[in-house]
Amino acid sequence: MSSELNLILLGPPGAGKGTQAERLTDDFNLPYIATGNILRAAVRDESGLGKQAKAYMEKGELVPDAVITGVILESLNSDDARDGFLLDGFPRTLPQADALGEGLEAAERRLTAVILIDVPDKEVTRRLSGRRVSVKTGRVYHIELDPPKHEGRCDIDSSRLVQRADDRAETIAKRLAVYHAETEPLVEYYDERGLLRRFDGTRTPTEVHDHIRATIATLRLEDEL
Ligand code: AMP
Repeated sequence: MSSELNLILLGPPGAGKGTQAERLTDDFNLPYIATGNILRAAVRDESGLGKQAKAYMEKGELVPDAVITGVILESLNSDDARDGFLLDGFPRTLPQADALGEGLEAAERRLTAVILIDVPDKEVTRRLSGRRVSVKTGRVYHIELDPPKHEGRCDIDSSRLVQRADDRAETIAKRLAVYHAETEPLVEYYDERGLLRRFDGTRTPTEVHDHIRATIATLRLEDEL
């Protein structure tokens, strides 16, 4: 039990959580559980979960706690996540954090750390408004910071690049407001529990990654001693 890495990625939309998650899941061989991706897939598949979530997501609002919490607790109990996990996008509210804490405790597990990637609102807005994603491969680009080789087309298979409905300017402002009101209180919540680790998300993706990786490696070492 002690060498489990049970990690949460926290930070505003556009902080680079997805980018870091890709690298960290590779480094530490962890399953990546991203609620945004799970919900978007559910909307695409028109499943019951998707139908419940769609309208909230398009407006940049949070899906109700009861809709998302059960789905996530179930995936943490799956065989895949038995030896650890990297959660992105959950918890997003204090009730979700409490539910997660109770779920883990019931399974005699605990969190290893909460990784906060800090980025100011202005930078978040710049990043999200330029974000484009391939309809087929899911690969993410940025029209200024990481453009595709051919405008509007994915480098991998030339599939079309689109803007996520919730990356439109008016929705970004809403998502940021929701982040500050609902999710930011988790910073203090996890700090009080000694779990919070802060990282400057305005650095390059490689720098942010190096810092996080070093911190996690140290935490794991301490755990094994
Ligand atoms: P993300 O890709 O993490 O930005 O999530 C996209 C959208 O999915 C959010 O704006 C919410 O509408 C919804 N969502 C994702 N995670 C949660 C969560 N933990 N609680 C409520 N809604 C969520």
